[in-house]
Amino acid sequence: MAVKILENRKRIALVAHDNKKTELIEWAKYNRVTLSKHELYATGTTGTLLEDALDVSVRKLLSGPLGGDQQIGALIAEGKIDVLIFFWDPMSAQPHDPDIKALLRLGVVWNIPIACDRSTADFILTSPLMHQEYEVILPDYNTYLKRKL
Ligand code: PGA
Repeated sequence: MAVKILENRKRIALVAHDNKKTELIEWAKYNRVTLSKHELYATGTTGTLLEDALDVSVRKLLSGPLGGDQQIGALIAEGKIDVLIFFWDPMSAQPHDPDIKALLRLGVVWNIPIACDRSTADFILTSPLMHQEYEVILPDYNTYLKRKL
């Protein structure tokens, strides 16, 4: 069984669609102390808002519709993101819908914790596992990789 060790300090990616940005920032301000103990990544606009609101440094990627979601997806695939907080908007169509699906899919492919709403984000952030080492069990993709073609 393949496992990956997550350190005490987690690498958290945060993304919010425009209609959800106020909610994410409010949540992040409320949880500022906890969040500041971890390494934060975000899509461009979300990251700028987070830095302004929290006064913590955030690794900012491109804006979501310009490739930021794909960059976070790539970091997840490389094992460089431990937790995804993604407040996507269920009430508006997004120009980068395929990228959103791809990001959510990769999160599941690599078995990382994903919060798509505030309640789940609260449950994840208050988990004792956020502050201790954790062994992620990696799905076994060997059968897939060694399939006969
Ligand atoms: P943004 O991207 O933080 O640059 O607005 C978010 C998104 O729509 O994926």
